Amino acid sequence: MITLTGKSVFGGVEIGKIAFYKRNNQQVKRWRVEDTEAEVTRFEAAKASAVEQLQGLYEKAMKDVGEENAMIFEIHQMMLEDLDYLESIIHIITNQQVNAEYAVATTADNFAAMFSAMDDAYMQGRAADVKDVSERILNILSGAGNTAFSTDEPAIIAADDLVPSETVQLDKEKVLGFATMYGSSNSHTAILARTMNIPAIIGLGEELKEEYDGAYAVIDGFDGKIYIDPDEETLALMREKQAKDREKKLLLQELKGKENVTLSGQKINIYANIGNTSDVGSVLQNDAGGIGLFRSEFLYLENDTFPTEEQQFQVYKTVAENMAGKKVIIRTLDIGADKQVAYFNLPQEENPALGYRAIRICLTQTDIFKTQLRALLRASAYGQIAIMFPMITSVWEVRRIKEILEEVRAELKADGIPYNEEMEIGIMIETPAAVMVSRELAKEVDFFSVGTNDLTQYTLAIDRQNPKLDDFYDPHHPAVLAMIQMAADSIHAEGKWIGICGELGADLEMTETFLKMGIDELSVSPSMILSVRKKVRETK
Ligand code: PEP
Ligand code: MG
Repeated sequence: MITLTGKSVFGGVEIGKIAFYKRNNQQVKRWRVEDTEAEVTRFEAAKASAVEQLQGLYEKAMKDVGEENAMIFEIHQMMLEDLDYLESIIHIITNQQVNAEYAVATTADNFAAMFSAMDDAYMQGRAADVKDVSERILNILSGAGNTAFSTDEPAIIAADDLVPSETVQLDKEKVLGFATMYGSSNSHTAILARTMNIPAIIGLGEELKEEYDGAYAVIDGFDGKIYIDPDEETLALMREKQAKDREKKLLLQELKGKENVTLSGQKINIYANIGNTSDVGSVLQNDAGGIGLFRSEFLYLENDTFPTEEQQFQVYKTVAENMAGKKVIIRTLDIGADKQVAYFNLPQEENPALGYRAIRICLTQTDIFKTQLRALLRASAYGQIAIMFPMITSVWEVRRIKEILEEVRAELKADGIPYNEEMEIGIMIETPAAVMVSRELAKEVDFFSVGTNDLTQYTLAIDRQNPKLDDFYDPHHPAVLAMIQMAADSIHAEGKWIGICGELGADLEMTETFLKMGIDELSVSPSMILSVRKKVRETK
């Protein structure tokens, strides 16, 4: 038995043969052409059929894997209309008097090298796309057409790396999982694997040899492992793991793609809470409508020093891109109280839960706050990011936040850095004060989310961290529920929406109550999404 370890992109266990992805890698030859005009026409005809093929793939992907994943083929079509790309090809044909194949291959290499050298990870990712579209034209020019890889029986597809068009053209009935030597966890292929709900492992390196083609193997997407020629013991263990996983998935699977709607037709959004980019896989797997709470402080907690703007930008952008247009609500740092970070040098406090924390730090150390806002605004150009502010008690705080936000926008504008001008901003309802002034607060922002963990602690004056008080800490307390109802009423009176992102949002005993209150969104941990959907659908 050979065990290979890589990076898991999506969980699941599958057993079957390995099929190594084979391409008809053609050697591109260079030859001289006399009639360059005719050669340009030949290229243009090939380009037109490539666009047509991509349109076909787009339509197929729309049906199979949804609009978000189909987008890539629209992007590929746009790439084929890119003036720089086209000019380069035509220029090479005309000036060097060479064949279209050579001009396309050279341009592809040059553009891919240029993209790879860029600092921006998104642009680096486009290197694979430019190669992909160019390969398509080369196939057409050589008469190979649209060659799709196929296997006779379901198999674990192994490859050096897979470009999106290769992944989507695979007959999904025949794919047990993906295993690649290279690749990035935020590539479109990884996103597709997650959407297709099949185990996928990347970064297995060159240990994943072509000689394993046809070998019997187990892919364990949970642990990022592949067992080639597994022994009996491993096989038995893996079969058990697979059965358990299937049983769990199956039950809730039936609810994927279904609406969050009650029997009487009331709808509610169900979003996910995350603390890390690696949680996005399970957000997608569980069919969340968006991310309702991204606790950004994890970035600060994991670091030895302040995370830079660039570091933060990459994280926020990755999440926004992976969520492909769905709402991603990122909460600004909520440091202090239970979340201590040494390099913040926070003072020892008698009463930290009532102390110097969250927005209070941001409004007094504006340099830290501005760095985060810049990163968030920059990332807003790559998806539907919204920003949410924790621990608000007063209207003046929100007005001050908006002033700072305005300063950051002005700086970005002056630097010519894009951001979404329409980005929504919201407030967490975590203090009784915020509830009492919620009507006024609702005039200032677009949305609200109730942090029931803190709202309970502050309403009941009970430290949520103190285990001795567990019996007293009761989020079902009528005072807490009255707070939520009051906030919902005043926020709705101003035409704004309100969600719940504290743990109480996933309490299935409360779902009906929240629906009655008119709560617009419940943001819960990814693993609870389908259970909450089930509860909503059973509610009258
Ligand atoms: C809350 O207070 O309910 C909340 C969602 O924030 P956190 O648990 O991170 O304090
Ligand atoms: Mg909180």
